[in-house]
Amino acid sequence: PSLREPRYRVVLLGDPGVGKTSLVNLFAGVQERDLLEQHGGAAYERRLTVDGEETTLVVLDTWEPEQRGEESQRRSHCLQIGNAYIIVYSVTDRDSFESASELRIQLRRARQAEDIPIILVGNKTDLVRCREVSEEEGQACAAVFDCKFIETSAALQHNVAELFEGVVRQIRLRQGGK
Ligand code: GDP
Repeated sequence: PSLREPRYRVVLLGDPGVGKTSLVNLFAGVQERDLLEQHGGAAYERRLTVDGEETTLVVLDTWEPEQRGEESQRRSHCLQIGNAYIIVYSVTDRDSFESASELRIQLRRARQAEDIPIILVGNKTDLVRCREVSEEEGQACAAVFDCKFIETSAALQHNVAELFEGVVRQIRLRQGGK
């Protein structure tokens, strides 16, 4: 890729089991070894064309649950390095929805003065009969926390491409303002 082609880091946040890895696996092609080493975990890189322009997204799936209330270095690193964030919860798990709000608050604290794009994602919409969080609640939460919202199903590959395209558009919107 040319130097002028934009490259953005997108960090996935959310409780274990909500579908972060499934979502990024659907999206991503390459897992580069130097990327992995640099970020100490799972990093995926893919070029995509959105609205006729190419962009490279590096998606980091390195979030880990809090251990005994300790603020791990990796967690605070994650909150610092993203150009954009995807906060995932499962629509079948209300606790993960509460965690998503908590993560939004942590992120705001970590990046106070910045206007970083955040997308709230309600995943597992295919599990209709296990749903614990309605789409309206997700939307309302996103409105309160001033972020974008989308529901996805990694299992059905529903809205996954739209999610990552939306991330690119949100990043560009803010770049355009500069
Ligand atoms: P992570 O811990 O957030 O990375 O979650 P994973 O991607 O490892 O997914 C946890 C489990 O949920 C796995 O068994 C996935 O197959 C399953 N899963 C992920 N996304 C979906 C989805 O959209 N629908 C259904 N039914 N299962 C899903």
